[in-house]
Amino acid sequence: MAVKKIKTIYDVLCPFCGTLCDDLEVDIADNKVVEVRNACQIGTKKFYSSNPNEHRYETPMIKKNGKLERASWEEAIDKAADILANAKRPLLYGFSSTECEAQSKGVELAEILGGVLDNTASVCHGPSLLAKQDVGQPGATLGEFKNRADLVIFWGSNPVHAHPRHLSRYSEFVRGYFRKDGRNDRYIVVVDPRNTHTAQIADLYIQVNPSEDYELLNAIRAVLRGVELDEKEVSGVSMEKIKELVNTMKTCSYGVIFFGMGLTQSLSHHRNIDAAICLTRELNDHTKFSIIPMRGHYNVAGANQVFTWNTGYAYSIDFSRGYARYNPGEFSSVEVLLKDQVDASLIVASDPASNFPAASVKNLFKHPLIVIDPHESPTTVYADIVLPAAIAGIEAEGTAYRMDNVPLRLRKVKDAPGECLTDKIILEKLIEKVKEKRGE
Ligand code: SF4
Repeated sequence: MAVKKIKTIYDVLCPFCGTLCDDLEVDIADNKVVEVRNACQIGTKKFYSSNPNEHRYETPMIKKNGKLERASWEEAIDKAADILANAKRPLLYGFSSTECEAQSKGVELAEILGGVLDNTASVCHGPSLLAKQDVGQPGATLGEFKNRADLVIFWGSNPVHAHPRHLSRYSEFVRGYFRKDGRNDRYIVVVDPRNTHTAQIADLYIQVNPSEDYELLNAIRAVLRGVELDEKEVSGVSMEKIKELVNTMKTCSYGVIFFGMGLTQSLSHHRNIDAAICLTRELNDHTKFSIIPMRGHYNVAGANQVFTWNTGYAYSIDFSRGYARYNPGEFSSVEVLLKDQVDASLIVASDPASNFPAASVKNLFKHPLIVIDPHESPTTVYADIVLPAAIAGIEAEGTAYRMDNVPLRLRKVKDAPGECLTDKIILEKLIEKVKEKRGE
C-alpha cells in the first residue's frame, strides 16, 4: 500500500472566530486535512469541513423547476449579473467570513449597482460601532492585555464557548511579560444574567438582571465618583457587591472589559456601550483601563475596516442615490428586508436565513437570491443561484482583522475542490459582467 505524503503547514490562522489564532499546524495529505494541531474544537471542525462532503458545492448551481442544478460558470455569472443589473435596489449582505480583498470588491459592486451594502455587524456589534462614533474607545491590542492586565472583566460574553482559546492565549490562563504566574496573576470578573461556564471559573460573578446592564453601569459610575446611592441594590446587584467591584477596578494595575452581545443586544443597545466606554474612560483617572468588543466572525472587524476606508461608514450603507449614505436602523439588512425595500439579494459568506427574523427571511426569499458560499445552508437551499467559493483562510489566502483590529495574513493550506473560485474572483467576474450588461 502506498504511504500518503503528509505536508505540514505552520503558523496557520484559524478562520472561525475573532480571536484569529495564528499558531495552528495543519497536516495535508492528498489535498485533504488529516490533522489540525493547536486549534479549539470549533476551529478544527472548520478545517475538516473543507474535505469532500455531501454539503459542499463544487460547481455553480442554478434553480430550474424548483431544484438547484449544476451549471457552468459562464451561465451562472451571466444569470446572476442579469438579476443584479436589472434590480432597482439590490441588497449585498454578509462579508464577515471572507478576506478583506473580497470585501473591497463587494463595496465596488454595491456602488455600481446603487444597492444596500451591509455586513453582519448590523446584527451583532453594530451598537458598539455607534457608541464608538459617539464617545470614542480606550482600546489596546490583545498582546497588551496578555502582558499587562491583572483585572479582566467579561461583560455579556462567554468566551469558554464563543472564543475558546481567548482565555489561554490572551486573557486568563496565559503567562504575560508582567503576569508571569498566568491565572494566579489575574482577577477575573464575569457580569452576566446567566451563570455561564466562564462565570463558573471567575473570581467574582455578578448576576445582573436581564436587560438592566445600563442601570448597573451607571450605578458603578456613580459610586466611582463617590456618590452614595440611596438603594439597597441596582439591577439585582447589592450595593456591597457594586462597591466591591468599584474598589477592585480602582486598585488594579491594568484592567480590561471584554464585552459581548449580551451587552450590545440587550435593552438600551448602544447606550449600554456608551456607558461602558464612559466608565472605562473615568477609570483612567485612577488606573489604566481599556475596553474591547469580543467580535464573533473572524473577519467582521475587517468588514468594518474595509467598508469604512471605501465609503466612510462601517455597515448599513445605501448607494441608491449614487453616493454612500449611512443610517443603521434604516439601511440595515433586517430593516430593508422587513419593509420589503429591496428587490434582489446577493449574500456573500453568510447565512441570514439561520439568524434573521422570520418575516425578513420571508421577504429575502420572495425576490431573486444569489449566494456565494462553499457549503449548503438554509439560505443556499432557497437561492436561485449558488456560486461555489473556496474557503478563505483554508483554500484561499488574504487579509483578516482580529477583534483588536490588528490585520493578519490568512494562509492557504490546500486547493479548493471542483470548480470553486475565491470570493474575490467571483465578485470580480460579477462586476465585469454587470458593467458589460450596462454598456459601461
Ligand atoms: S479560539 Fe477562535 S480562532 Fe482560535 S482556534 Fe478557536 S475558533 Fe479558531
